[in-house]
Amino acid sequence: MSTIEQIAAALQGYDPKALAAASVNQFLAKLVDPVTDTERVGVFAALGRVLAQDVVSPISVPPHDNSAMDGFAFDGSQLVKGQSLTLRLAEGTAFAGKAWTGVAGVGACVKIMTGAIMPTGMDTVVPLELVKVDGDQVHIPADVLQRGDNRRFLGEDLMAGQPALRQGQTLGPAALGLIASLGLAQVPVFRRIKVAYFSTGDEILSLGEPLREGAVYDSNRYTVFGLLTRLGVEVIDMGVVKDEPAALEAAFREAARGADAIITSGGVSMGEADHTKAMMKQLGDVAFWRIAMRPGRPMAVGKITESGKSAVLFGLPGNPVAVMVTFLAFVRPALQRLMGSAVTEPVLLKAHSAEALRKKPGRTEYQRGTVARGADGQLSVRTTGNQGSGVLSSMVQANGLIVLHHAQDNVAVGDEVDVMMFDGVI
Ligand code: AMP
Ligand code: MG
Repeated sequence: MSTIEQIAAALQGYDPKALAAASVNQFLAKLVDPVTDTERVGVFAALGRVLAQDVVSPISVPPHDNSAMDGFAFDGSQLVKGQSLTLRLAEGTAFAGKAWTGVAGVGACVKIMTGAIMPTGMDTVVPLELVKVDGDQVHIPADVLQRGDNRRFLGEDLMAGQPALRQGQTLGPAALGLIASLGLAQVPVFRRIKVAYFSTGDEILSLGEPLREGAVYDSNRYTVFGLLTRLGVEVIDMGVVKDEPAALEAAFREAARGADAIITSGGVSMGEADHTKAMMKQLGDVAFWRIAMRPGRPMAVGKITESGKSAVLFGLPGNPVAVMVTFLAFVRPALQRLMGSAVTEPVLLKAHSAEALRKKPGRTEYQRGTVARGADGQLSVRTTGNQGSGVLSSMVQANGLIVLHHAQDNVAVGDEVDVMMFDGVI
């Protein structure tokens, strides 16, 4: 495990007072070690979990060559370009789950149902709707199909002995189905990580408390809960912690004991007079950054150690939008790494900006945007009004974040911009 100082020394151009967004992710990738503990879970329980080992297919899927259509199976070598073909219908039918076991040579065909094993010597299926049947004569018009049509190959989905799923993959609905198609009742996954969260700040009210002058209700607790839950981690919700050394110390110690990672919001700005930063420094190995980004400049990261066990710390700024943006840009990829996930970078979409955007090179900006398909069929994106870092409604209206990269300049109407879509994340 590397210290903050060691990681910082290894990063090119590390400047805690003006850190580029890309450097933050590089730093966090070095700070966070993936979990190693695994468990076996049933297929239903595997949804959203991260696979701990490759799953090697014990069988081939499908296990036989079979028909993709209801129709007539025959030896396709008899097809000649420009000529129709008449075949003699053999007795019986090839059903899915009940093979046709006879031998019907050249000149014959067998009625076959979708999923039925291809009869020996036959490699082509003509669909029912393409033929004319006259007694035991089946007429196939010229040029309606080619040899091999409508036949599915043994193992065309998965071949026995080949990896069907890779370690580090997050298991979604398709993966669950695939696991079941292999006849596997359980899979090995990494243990679920635990993430503790608390809000700090004397002006922060919990729900149920009466509103008083200068105070605001704690919204970060709920957005972070939602973000963490969607990520599939176990959330340890610690509510609001008072800005008092004893309360903060107890909260940090409890969180470090019970969680793999700790997220806090508030109290990490440069000018902040409260005790949060002091307590982070006292209990852990923590760096305090000013990131070249908007929103979300201040952030603290490091490790808090308690009784020999340490937890990764993400001290996020207090502003509600800044919390969500720093979570999506930095915390989420870092937690995915901690979970054992192989994929930690969001796939960005390209959309044409419907408006001009002011942007200074030298910082990364995350603007809240709504992506829609325009009349011309192209994706276009526009911002959702007031982009203040406290304006949570700008996040509610948005369906993605427009990412204006570090070196990027002003954006003109129609320019392509990158968008980090919320779908599946928020
Ligand atoms: P700070 O980073 O502590 O300077 O907080 C920045 C702004 O975010 C202030 O206006 C705070 O009132 C606000 N804020 C901090 N924590 C929360 C929270 N948990 N819920 C809503 N607003 C918050
Ligand atoms: Mg504060």
